[in-house]
Amino acid sequence: MSILVLGGAGYIGSHTVYELIDQGHDVVIVDNLQTGFKELIHPKAKFYQGDLRDKEFLNEVFDREAIDGVIHFAANSLVGISMKEPLEYYDNNVYGMMVLLEAMKKHGVKHIVFSSTAATYGEPKQIPILEDSETSPTNPYGETKLAMEKMMKWCEKAYGMSFVALRYFNACGAHPNGKIGELHNPETHLIPLILQVPLKKREAISVFGTDYPTKDGTCIRDYIHVCDLADAHIKAIHYLLDGNPSQIINLGNGEGYSVLEIIKAAEQVTQQSIKTVLCERRAGDPAKLVACNTKAQEILGWNPKYTSINEIINTAWNFYTNRK
Ligand code: UDP
Repeated sequence: MSILVLGGAGYIGSHTVYELIDQGHDVVIVDNLQTGFKELIHPKAKFYQGDLRDKEFLNEVFDREAIDGVIHFAANSLVGISMKEPLEYYDNNVYGMMVLLEAMKKHGVKHIVFSSTAATYGEPKQIPILEDSETSPTNPYGETKLAMEKMMKWCEKAYGMSFVALRYFNACGAHPNGKIGELHNPETHLIPLILQVPLKKREAISVFGTDYPTKDGTCIRDYIHVCDLADAHIKAIHYLLDGNPSQIINLGNGEGYSVLEIIKAAEQVTQQSIKTVLCERRAGDPAKLVACNTKAQEILGWNPKYTSINEIINTAWNFYTNRK
């Protein structure tokens, strides 16, 4: 059985590939290496470098490989840049999904697990967030992911494709093997940026907004370990291959931490004091996002293994100190 992983050289994609290969699956990766890294590609995966919007290229991959299911991570995922370049996000994310679904339809591939996001909810009216909560994205990133979910829904009705959209909260941490972890260029995510301070690659961490309606005025997020996310993707593809119906499922720990709490936890893990600069809000950021994760437990039998924030940050710290 071959699984096609689009974006398998990226952060969450690479961790999912490692887990798939550990479990004995054959994996085909498509990645244009625009934001992915060669060093994150599993040596046993078959790798095609190319852009999924390139129809000829993508169809050739489907022609050559016997694909049973698809896991789709290949998309732009930065809130800040999406606010500045919305059309780039519509092109890569929404048009990319259209090309992918067309190729799947043409080749009779009917199952897709999709990397969606809590950003589809926007500013939530209730916490924790349930899957049937209102979706009203506050940025183009969330808007494009929601459009991609809806595209799959209509393809399910018309062509009998089935999907699981996994709406993850804040992915973080690294594989305990120390070989792969969170790499972005430029880096914009909170935990890697915080750790750059004790790694002496950055002077201080900026805190974006201190006047949010939260306990300490900084944004609250639900941080979920990347290996727990990888595990959920594999459970989801098995769920679809077993003939089960489409689902939209949250992936989070169900617990929220403020930006200042994350900085404090990082200080404990690294045993260093981390210089902090208080700044203005970043455009497009909701105040508080925390998941209700019971649907993932019930439907997929998924339970996060990494529930301690210090342990999660420690896996990231282990990865960065190994690479130095
Ligand atoms: N954040 C921050 N300083 C930074 C980067 C992020 O204060 O240098 C905040 C950001 O405003 C958000 C949280 O940390 O409230 C998580 O941001 P990240 O970019 O890691 O993930 P997102 O929530 O955008 O998916």
